[in-house]
Amino acid sequence: MNDRIAELTRTIDDSDTKLKRAREELSRIRSSCLHQWGPVRDCSEYKPAYDIPGDPPGTMGVDWRPGCHVPAQTIEKWQRTCRLCGLTETTTETNQQVTHTPRFR
Ligand SMILES: [Zn+2]
Repeated sequence: MNDRIAELTRTIDDSDTKLKRAREELSRIRSSCLHQWGPVRDCSEYKPAYDIPGDPPGTMGVDWRPGCHVPAQTIEKWQRTCRLCGLTETTTETNQQVTHTPRFR
């Protein structure tokens, strides 16, 4: 092994160790943080419609599959980031909120 390869290998190993320690320390800090969440951001994803082509007619025998259309869809997602530790959480879950208002007949 030439010197340059040995040096690069050592650099990579040292960097891996530093990265692992930094991730562990950040994880420790974040797990003990009393999060102060910033505003919730809507980061919904729009997936356009597309067609899956089927097998050409006369091929595949009994396993022949027709084409199909996959409609467009929007996946609702939200994110929030802690002002103190920078942790970003993403969710697709929602709470159902029922409100009652006076009704006069
Ligand atoms: Zn935090």
